[in-house]
Amino acid sequence: NSTTTDSKDLRAKLVLLGDSGVGKSCIVLRFVRGQFDPTSKVTVGASFLSQTLALEDSTIVKFEIWDTAGQERYAALAPLYYRGAAAAVVVYDITSPDSFSKAQYWVKELQKHGSPDIIMVLVGNKADLHENRHVSSQEAQEYAEKNNMIFIETSAKTADNINQVFEVCPPSI
Ligand code: GDP
Ligand code: MG
Repeated sequence: NSTTTDSKDLRAKLVLLGDSGVGKSCIVLRFVRGQFDPTSKVTVGASFLSQTLALEDSTIVKFEIWDTAGQERYAALAPLYYRGAAAAVVVYDITSPDSFSKAQYWVKELQKHGSPDIIMVLVGNKADLHENRHVSSQEAQEYAEKNNMIFIETSAKTADNINQVFEVCPPSI
């Protein structure tokens, strides 16, 4: 019965925010196509992709993914992308303290202007570069807890934890 099936299916708008170069586009590319492109092009404005994910309870979630550009000149456009979003994935690079500060800026912005029930995920990407780590997992975990966020470290390069980021995003039914 297709009606029953349809009623179990979810749509979720998801936005990625974070400094330029932290790996947002690579995370999306890894999730959507299972690929990693080391010569990833800088995102201009924002790009849109959709991808479905089957959850453990067999619910199908259709993600509408907005991958934004991190550049300052696009910051004013960000509300267009996080408005109505079920989830916001705020990404930093574990080798860059600056990108962690920028992530905190986005968290504050979402707390001020985002939907009050938005699911926020803090993602420390480039976990494969652990020899060059400059943001500790503990510091990020504590920050995430204080701000009601889920914290995950990922690597778009090795695919580590990439699916997990999206699995925690669907709003509970
Ligand atoms: P964006 O500006 O946040 O969209 O960042 P990109 O996805 O364009 O990635 C910026 C750069 O970081 C590119 O050179 C990627 O190859 C590199 N990169 C992205 N994710 C990873 C990762 O998990 N590990 C490593 N080592 N490099 C990554
Ligand atoms: Mg990009």
